[in-house]
Amino acid sequence: AELYDIERWSDDYFHISDNGTLLVSPNRNRANAIDVKELVDRLDQRGLDLPILIRFNGILADRLKRMNDCFAEAINQHGFQNRYCCVFPIKVNQQRDVVQQVIAHGRQYGFGVEAGSKPELLAVVAMTDPDMPVICNGFKDDEFIHMALLAQRMGRTVIPVVEKVSELDLILKHAEEMGIRPTIGMRVKLATRGTGRWQASGGYRSKFGLTVSEMLAQLDRLIELGMGDCFQLLHFHVGSQVGNIRQLKSAILEASRIYVDLFRRGAGLKYLDVGGGLGVDYDGSQTDTDSSMNYTMQEYANDVVYHVQTVCDEAEVPHPTLISESGRAIAAQHSILVMDILGVTAQGKFQSDLGELPEEYEQPVHDLWLSLDSLTSRNIQQVFHDAQVSLELCMNLFSGGYLPLEQRVIAEDLYFAICHGIQKIGAEMGELPDELRHLDRTLSDIYFANFSLFQSMPDSWAIDQLFPIMPIHRLAEKPTRHAVLGDITCDSDGKVDGFICGGKRSRTLMLHEHTVGQPYQLAVMMVGAYQEILGDLHNLFGDTHAVHVDIADGNVKVQSIVKGDTVQEVLGYVQYETRELVDKLQEAVEDALQRGVLNNEQAGETVAFYEKSLGNYTYLSHRK
Ligand code: PLP
Repeated sequence: AELYDIERWSDDYFHISDNGTLLVSPNRNRANAIDVKELVDRLDQRGLDLPILIRFNGILADRLKRMNDCFAEAINQHGFQNRYCCVFPIKVNQQRDVVQQVIAHGRQYGFGVEAGSKPELLAVVAMTDPDMPVICNGFKDDEFIHMALLAQRMGRTVIPVVEKVSELDLILKHAEEMGIRPTIGMRVKLATRGTGRWQASGGYRSKFGLTVSEMLAQLDRLIELGMGDCFQLLHFHVGSQVGNIRQLKSAILEASRIYVDLFRRGAGLKYLDVGGGLGVDYDGSQTDTDSSMNYTMQEYANDVVYHVQTVCDEAEVPHPTLISESGRAIAAQHSILVMDILGVTAQGKFQSDLGELPEEYEQPVHDLWLSLDSLTSRNIQQVFHDAQVSLELCMNLFSGGYLPLEQRVIAEDLYFAICHGIQKIGAEMGELPDELRHLDRTLSDIYFANFSLFQSMPDSWAIDQLFPIMPIHRLAEKPTRHAVLGDITCDSDGKVDGFICGGKRSRTLMLHEHTVGQPYQLAVMMVGAYQEILGDLHNLFGDTHAVHVDIADGNVKVQSIVKGDTVQEVLGYVQYETRELVDKLQEAVEDALQRGVLNNEQAGETVAFYEKSLGNYTYLSHRK
C-alpha cells in the first residue's frame, strides 16, 4: 500500500483488501466496498474484454455532496446571507451517463450545469430540469444566443455569459426581436493570473472576457437602455487545477471588488461565478505541484465565502449567490481505467557466474568480464566508469568490423550484468550515488499494457500530468520490478514514465513479476475529468468499454455497460464503408480463387473472418 501511495491520494475512496485486491468505497465508508478485481473477473466472464473504464456513480454523488457540504459549512460559519450553487462544466465529461448522474445527484442541492458550445448547450437544455441553472460560456454566434434566449423565454435560468463585446450586441438584438428582458452574465479579465499550466486563462492577455474598462462601458450602455438590471452575473476563471490557494484568494478578492463596484453603479448583479480551478490531488503531495494543490476543498469554500462576504459587507452590497464551475474536482476521481499487461521486455539481467571467456576474445570484452568479477559495494562508481569505456570500445570495434556479433552480445550481457549488480548493491545499501540513480530507469522493464495512451490518458502525453497507477490485485505481494509502461500504439510517445512514489515524481513504477499466461491487471486512477473527450483515435484505437457500477446494501450492481467502439465504427470515422470494404475483399478473394491459390472453403473462411473482425473491439483480446 505504501508503495503506491494509496493513502496519500485516495481521498478515502480507494483502499486495499486483506487479499491484496483494490477496493473502492464510493461513499468513503470502508464497510461498503467494491472489489475491482472481482468485478473485472465477472465482466470477463460476461465476455467483456479489457481495457475497461469503470465509472463509480457513487463517487460522483459523493463529490457533489462534499462540494455542497463544504460550502454549507463555510456559509454557516461565516453567516453568509446567500447560497452556493455548483454548475458542472460538461466539457469535463460530456458522456450522457455522467451528465445524467450529475443532474440526478445535484438536483437536491440546487446545482446546475455549464455549457461552452452549441452542442453542449443543446444537450443540457433538453436534459436539465426547468429550474436548474445553465451557464453558457465560450464564444457565441446568433444561433447560440437565440437558443439561450428561447430557453429564457420558457422561464429557464439559462444565462449567456458575454465573452466579447459583440456578443452583448447579439443578446440585445435577439432579446428585442423576441420581446424579452434578457438575463445577462459577463466574464471579466482579471489582472490576477493563476500559476502553473493554465495561467494563460487569467490575466490581461487572456483569450476570454471583457476588460474592466470594456465592462464599465457596456454597463453604462445597458443603463442608458434602462437595462442595468439585466446584467445579473459576473464571472471569472483563472485556469484549471490551480495549485496555490493564494492565486485563488487574490482572484476572488479582485473579482469581489469589481462586483461591488458594478453593483453600486447600477448593475442588477445577483450572482458571482468564480469559475473552475479547484484542484485535485493526483500525486498525493498536497503541495503546489502541477498534479496537486496546497489546499483542501473546505479551505477553498471558506476562502470564496469569506472574501466575497468581507468585500460585500464593507461596500454594503447584498451577498450574491455564489456559483463555482468546478469540473475536475467533481469528476476526476469517479473513473478508473483497468488494463491488462500483455508482456514484458527486460533490459539485461544480473548474472554473477558467466564462466571463463575464450582467450581469443577481444581485450575490452575481457575487461568487462574482469569489471563484473571485481564488483563490490566499495567500487561501484569505478566499475561503472570502466564498464562504460569498455563497452564503448567494443562498439567501436564492432562498427569497424573487428568484433564478431557473438562477442558483441557477450559484451552487452556483461555490461548490463554490471549495471544490474550495481543496482542490487544500491538496493541493499538503501541508496546509490547521484550519478548512478538513473540506473533504475535505464534498467527498468517495459510492461506492455493493452490500452492507448492517446485515447485514455491524453494529458499524460500532452502535459505530462501524473495519474496514480497500480495493480488491482497481488497487492499483498511485494513488487520487485522497476517498470515503465508501453501502450499498444505504434508510437514511441505511447509510454508512461512518470509515476508517483512517496509523494514525489518517480521515473519508474514498482510492479510484480509478470508470468506469461497469468493475468496481471493495472488501473490508471482518476481519469474521470477531461481524459475521455480529449482522447483521440491514434492508430484507430477507439473508445474503451465503459461500465457504470454502484453498491447498495453490500451488493455490487452493474448499472450500465456502454460498449466501446468496434473496428467498423472507427473505420467509419475515417470514411471507410463496411459494405465497400467487404466487397473489395470479396473481389480479392475471388481473384485468388481464380488463380488457384485458395480453395472454396478457404475463400469462405477468409471473408467470414474479415466480416467478424469488423464487428470486434479495437484493442487486443486474450480470446481465441
Ligand atoms: N469554467 C471555465 C470557463 C473553464 O474554462 C474551465 C476549464 O478550464 C472550467 C470552468 C472548469 O475548470 P475545473 O475543471 O478546473 O473546475
